Amino acid sequence: MNKIDFSLYQQIVVLTGAGISVASGLKTYRGAGSDSSEYDFADYGHIDRLKDDPMKVWKLYGKLRKDIIQAQPNSAHYSLAEFERRLLPNQNFTLITQNVDGLHQKAGSKNIVELHGNMHKTRCSNLECKLVPFKDEKVYTELPICDLCKSPLLPDVVLFGEKIPAFADWSSKRALRECDLFIAVGTSGTVSPAANFVRSAEYADAKTILVNLEPMEPKNPAFQDEINGKAEELLPRLMA
Ligand SMILES: [Zn+2]
Repeated sequence: MNKIDFSLYQQIVVLTGAGISVASGLKTYRGAGSDSSEYDFADYGHIDRLKDDPMKVWKLYGKLRKDIIQAQPNSAHYSLAEFERRLLPNQNFTLITQNVDGLHQKAGSKNIVELHGNMHKTRCSNLECKLVPFKDEKVYTELPICDLCKSPLLPDVVLFGEKIPAFADWSSKRALRECDLFIAVGTSGTVSPAANFVRSAEYADAKTILVNLEPMEPKNPAFQDEINGKAEELLPRLMA
């Protein structure tokens, strides 16, 4: 498959994972593939560290924040932003991302659902606190404390052991319920969330496509088509 006839579809949903940001110099860092990190993500990035050693969270994410701030979008991000600008009047497009790097926004995408938060922002760890997550690119060497409630601040990302934010969860489910074309890019087709999302899309009778570097193993039959290769090479051609 070299091209998709997008005029056939009205409710288009694209899910992106870490694979789309590799060409921007960002490693995959949540779950599998994070072996190059000097810190254990499931330990340093776990919500339980809030109780015993919240600074561990910043040790892990401080370095990532630094990398993310310097990163620039690549042609895969740009082709999705360009695609959104060219939508027909009867088309809707929802970009759901597992990434916390903010590169879709930097590339110009508008309708984005961030499943795991955004590393460019900081939030209060106290769920009752009124502090609104704020833009913050600082890399802390001492634990930052909330002005309002004196609880530790955290990067505005979903930590291990935490749930996907309610609004992101609701928005992605709603988009999938109505979709007639679902494309997953740079993420494994066999694990969550792509594996769950494609089932929802299948249930909605959507066309389903996986674009990923690695061939699916085992095959997830909910994906009707699979295209293997680099996102930054494939997407500009597919979305053109
Ligand atoms: Zn607070």
